[in-house]
Amino acid sequence: MTEDVRRVFRMDNEVLAFRFTATVSERANMEPRERLTSSARLTMWLQATGFDVTGVSPDDLEDAVELREAIYRIGSAIAAGEQPDSKDVRTLNTVAAAGHAKAALEHERAEWHLTDTTPVGDALGVLATDAIRILGGPDRGRIKNCEGPGCAGLYLDTSRGANRRWCSMNTCGNKVKKSRLAAS
Ligand SMILES: [Zn+2]
Repeated sequence: MTEDVRRVFRMDNEVLAFRFTATVSERANMEPRERLTSSARLTMWLQATGFDVTGVSPDDLEDAVELREAIYRIGSAIAAGEQPDSKDVRTLNTVAAAGHAKAALEHERAEWHLTDTTPVGDALGVLATDAIRILGGPDRGRIKNCEGPGCAGLYLDTSRGANRRWCSMNTCGNKVKKSRLAAS
C-alpha cells in the first residue's frame, strides 16, 4: 500500500460510524468528493480502522457505500429533528444482523476477529452496530451536521454546552477561523 491513509481519508472523527461516513467529504458542495473510489481504497480504510481484511470485491464496495449512505441519511435526519427513512433503517439493521465479528482484548487492545468467509460483511456489521449505538443512544440529540465550509459531515457534539459547530476543530474549525481572520 503506497498511499498514506491520512492523505486520502479523514480519520479524525471520534465516532467510528461517522468516521466511515466521512469517506465522502465536501457533502454540502455540488460535487461531494468520494474517497472510496475502489476496492483497494475500501481495503485501505478498513485496515487503517483495525479490520484485518483482504480480497475486497466490487460487491463489497457496493455494500459498504450503501451502508455508509444509509448511516449518513439517518444521522442527518436525526440532526434535523426528522424521522429517518424506514428503508435506510432496514439497510442498517440488516447489515448489523449479518455480521459475525467477535471482539477480543489482545495485548490490552480491542481487536475484531472476522470470519474467513465474509470478512468485509463482518466489518460492515461492526460499523452498522456502532451506528445503531449512536443513532439510537442517549446522545442522539447531540448528532449534528458540521457547519464548516462545504462539509456537512456528521459528528457527535460532546462539548459541555452542546455548542460545537464543526466535525473537527483541526480541520473545519480551523478553516472557519482562518477565513474569519482573513476577512477581518
Ligand atoms: Zn466538517
